[in-house]
Amino acid sequence: MAHARGSGILFVLSGPSGAGKGTVCKALMETLPDMRLSVSVTTRPPRPGERHGVNYFFHTKAEFEAMIENGELLEWARVFDNYYGTPRAYVEENLAAGHDVLLEIDIQGAMQVKRAYPQGVFIFLIPPSATELEARILGRGTETEDSFRQRFGAARHELQMMKEYNYVVVNDVVEAACERIRAIMTAEHCSVSRN
Ligand code: 5GP
Repeated sequence: MAHARGSGILFVLSGPSGAGKGTVCKALMETLPDMRLSVSVTTRPPRPGERHGVNYFFHTKAEFEAMIENGELLEWARVFDNYYGTPRAYVEENLAAGHDVLLEIDIQGAMQVKRAYPQGVFIFLIPPSATELEARILGRGTETEDSFRQRFGAARHELQMMKEYNYVVVNDVVEAACERIRAIMTAEHCSVSRN
């Protein structure tokens, strides 16, 4: 969906760890052939099956710090023990060419993007309940007990950031959450204040 005025819309999908951002984002992208998904840079090691340039750009801490230094990142944050950031050029170039861009990032990063792009659309994805959140973080199967406690504790705190967002979507069933997000995207394209 290219925007009428030539500039695309920046959509930011964010929310607490364990809300299912990654799963929803992947399912959403399968139904949005024109959406440009920004691939983030990270210093965390790849999980089994993850590929450089597809899931993330995997870099060393020194390389990441050089990117910060050179202003190459639109936002960056330390999430748990690793750094994550959004390459600036990809976002700027695609928006300027009239393409919508989707970011799937944590809350600290989303707040930085909000300062740079207040006209962006900020969507807060939440799990249906605390019990479900716990099950999802554990179900990922890659968490040690310490990292579980860290992620679960952070997620509860992060829920309070909802008020900073334009929309909230409950991720009860992935396809239902995607449907709501697509409805938000359509509404934003029809919004009088953007045209
Ligand atoms: P994971 O290691 O599970 O792939 O991601 C951990 C967290 O980092 C998730 O909450 C994810 O949304 C967030 N994240 C991924 N990419 C970025 C990014 O470029 N910037 C920021 N701020 N967070 C990110």
